[in-house]
Amino acid sequence: MRVVTTFAAAREAAGAQATLVPTMGFFHEGHLALMERARKDPGTVMVSLFVNPTQFDDPADLDRYPRDPDRDMALAEEARVDVLFSPKVEEVYPAGGSTVVGVETLGEVLEGVHRPGHLQGVATVVAKLFAGLQPRRAVFGRKDAQQLAVVRRLAGDLRMPVEVIGHPTVREPDGLALSSRNVLLDRPDRERALGLSRGLFQAADQIEAGETRGRRLEEVVAKAARHTNVEYVALVDMTTMAPLDALDRHAVLAVAAEVGPVRLIDNLAIDFVSSPAPDRGSILEKESILYER
Ligand code: AMP
Repeated sequence: MRVVTTFAAAREAAGAQATLVPTMGFFHEGHLALMERARKDPGTVMVSLFVNPTQFDDPADLDRYPRDPDRDMALAEEARVDVLFSPKVEEVYPAGGSTVVGVETLGEVLEGVHRPGHLQGVATVVAKLFAGLQPRRAVFGRKDAQQLAVVRRLAGDLRMPVEVIGHPTVREPDGLALSSRNVLLDRPDRERALGLSRGLFQAADQIEAGETRGRRLEEVVAKAARHTNVEYVALVDMTTMAPLDALDRHAVLAVAAEVGPVRLIDNLAIDFVSSPAPDRGSILEKESILYER
């Protein structure tokens, strides 16, 4: 594996057929699953590791964001990553820079309302990664459903020749969606946090039993998550993030909540071919490597 810190070196090391996995590090099995997915395509696998300051709307959240670059490097090596791009802030945001990328409408709901500036920070850094690294493909988790929609839209709108691939959510054995922030939850908070995935699974069961009413599905999740500070529960169109009254197309049932010191998001992606098919993601059989210390 080559570890590089500049766009030029990363481009040179990755070649013309790279699949990029953008991350903020502190790897868990969700990140490793994206790397494994990237391996399936021809060409090299490039992982970017960059805690992007512009996507943090809360400076305290940026300060306490977990980091362990040595562990990340070992895990990336084990995952047979070809190139690890780990730039300094100045490489990504050169002095005097003034360009930002915003995605209107679908970037202005849900996370756009509750984390002002967050999605613009994401869109800006992803545009820089796509422009500066010129990957052929990029893999993103369905865990961040609105981020995935924003990235697909920006790549399409800016006519970037990058194929954007979404990958299912990886969950801990009890159902909690893996997130680097999970290490900040104490036991009671974690118990409360489980309401999110439990609610989404109950909604998935109801969808499979024929429920299509958005309001009903949202109520199921809100009830299960009632011991957390719920910010929103919403059934939305998977591409536009516009609210849906009924399940009649590709959709996302999304939830965000504050639990103790952290803010968690989770969702159920609901693919719709001739009928709705909820994607619960995959569940780990044993405790996550996040807790191996
Ligand atoms: P992060 O390091 O949290 O910014 O995430 C980097 C990438 O990993 C993003 O595309 C996320 O959507 C994805 N990701 C994060 N958590 C999970 C998960 N539990 N399952 C699948 N993908 C995930």
